[in-house]
Amino acid sequence: MIVTKKKDISTIVDALDGRKRVHLFGCNACAEQCYTGGRRELDEMKETLERRGVEVTGTSLVDETCYRQRIRMELRKREEIRGAEAMVVLACGAGVRTVADVCDERVPVIPALDTLFLASVERHGRFHEGCSLCGECVLDRTASICPHTECPKGLLNGPCGGVADGMCEVNMEMECAWVRIYRRLRRQRRLHLMRTPIPPKDHSTDVRPRKVFLRH
Ligand code: SF4
Ligand code: SF4
Repeated sequence: MIVTKKKDISTIVDALDGRKRVHLFGCNACAEQCYTGGRRELDEMKETLERRGVEVTGTSLVDETCYRQRIRMELRKREEIRGAEAMVVLACGAGVRTVADVCDERVPVIPALDTLFLASVERHGRFHEGCSLCGECVLDRTASICPHTECPKGLLNGPCGGVADGMCEVNMEMECAWVRIYRRLRRQRRLHLMRTPIPPKDHSTDVRPRKVFLRH
């Protein structure tokens, strides 16, 4: 799941740059779960913008805003979207990009959220960053704990010298990722994996933007 947080309303109004008729898009998937872009947040944003003199032509809560087909369907269904001078999107950056790809290019698309990270969900409202999307997964070697993500220094081959009583020197409230990896590998009887170094990541293959086209 993609975790987002709300931008300050003045940042959003500034980005509108005087445009007074907007349409709002929310996302009924990740942003809804983060309480940043569901039905309630769309209604709140509508009220807030209207108090600031911005007319809201309508609100669209799309199932997954990062899905072009769903945005296209919404545009076909909702005539009033075409009358808007700007779109405000309460979704992650991929959602903003998708709305912009589908809508008239002359109409600015403004993000209402900041996109933070890819998370695993402990339960509703509690998210943990567990993967930085590096493209070369090493979780088979690290008992499913990502050193690239869960160690603030991204160390791939054991702890730094700063680990103290098992805690991380960067964040003393957090157990060192490598202490956790060691403990879990030991429980799995796979400590031998730590004897072979994990090679450095090949950043030359990590060229953005990345694309994947799958055949059905
Ligand atoms: S190594 Fe870490 S960042 Fe890379 S794909 Fe695996 S979990 Fe994600
Ligand atoms: S103490 Fe552990 S988790 Fe913290 S920076 Fe050093 S190796 Fe990484």
